[in-house]
Amino acid sequence: MPTIDCDIVIQAGHENTPDNKTGGESKWGKEIEWTPIVANEAVRVLRAAGVNVIKEDASIKSSTRKYKCKLAVFVHFDDSDTGGSGPSVGYPVDAGNEATAAQWKALYSRYFPFGSAWREDNFTEDEAKYYGYGRTSTTIAEFLIEFGDLQSERQALWMRSNLLWMGRLLAYFLSRRLGLENIQLPDAPQDGAPSNAPSAAPQLPSLHETISAAGGASPAGMSCSNGWQITGYFTASEDMYNGPLQTVHIPGEDEVKFPADFLHHVMIEGWGKTRFGWYLGWDQGWVRGTGALNALGKPLKIGSLAVDKKAIALGTTVTIPSLPAPWDKQVFVADDTGGAIQGKHLDVYCGDGPVAQKETYRITMSNMRVCT
Ligand SMILES: [Zn+2]
Repeated sequence: MPTIDCDIVIQAGHENTPDNKTGGESKWGKEIEWTPIVANEAVRVLRAAGVNVIKEDASIKSSTRKYKCKLAVFVHFDDSDTGGSGPSVGYPVDAGNEATAAQWKALYSRYFPFGSAWREDNFTEDEAKYYGYGRTSTTIAEFLIEFGDLQSERQALWMRSNLLWMGRLLAYFLSRRLGLENIQLPDAPQDGAPSNAPSAAPQLPSLHETISAAGGASPAGMSCSNGWQITGYFTASEDMYNGPLQTVHIPGEDEVKFPADFLHHVMIEGWGKTRFGWYLGWDQGWVRGTGALNALGKPLKIGSLAVDKKAIALGTTVTIPSLPAPWDKQVFVADDTGGAIQGKHLDVYCGDGPVAQKETYRITMSNMRVCT
């Protein structure tokens, strides 16, 4: 049974549910679409601040994955039948969980505009005995957050306008709980609809526009889906290697010496940047090029993306709004393929050299939102 260590694990409730428990929904939104937006944004902000945070989804219900972390948070929205519910927290009863959940309530209450809607802790059976508690053991706390009631028009409209903000507030809260001070409290949330406006909904930005405006970029006309695995690749440069020198013969060149481990890398990855500035390639023999080339023989550049052609056609414009900046704003073009890139997996080209290598680590993430 794999046990995974981390600072924080954040679960988007219902996402990738293995048993059709798709969560609440109303005419203002669907819980299963909102929880990943909040969770992914919290993960993005925490990762950018150097926190070892893992994003999870409802597939843990049917998996053997277990987490040993400082904090575990499960993100949900309530869906009462009566329209009379509100935000709340749930946790296995224990002093650490209760204290941390109380601190979260105090923080979120400063902004949530409908104070009387709050419900008591462990308001529902699902909150009190959530399956997720059995997948995590924590040293600080684990708790479930209900951000509010989807069936309440005024709550739902306010929440819909502030999903990314909720993720940022959660990231801020969790970072403080870890004792970190490098994540700022986000700016105040948007007002949402005035509760007495009879048909306020059409004037509100759609969820889609809200995300775009807040920098999550899903350009108009694109359609988005969750559950993608993102990895990065890069072109190594010769200065990253220091193995024994080996002489190679490149057609049209004199014999040139390169570190053997650099040559080995080029034979596996296809290309590497030499100390001379030109690129060394391997394709049944050594070749010289002015850039690293993709599977189509065209130069790779920032914005290049390797895809499974069966999942995304080559030439398709793609954005990945939940990646850390600046990648969240990057417009990619699917222009490369790779044997290991299959199904809902995208491989982002990060450039060349050690900086690009670091970027590949920074953007490796699962359960991401991708727009085409
Ligand atoms: Zn739920």
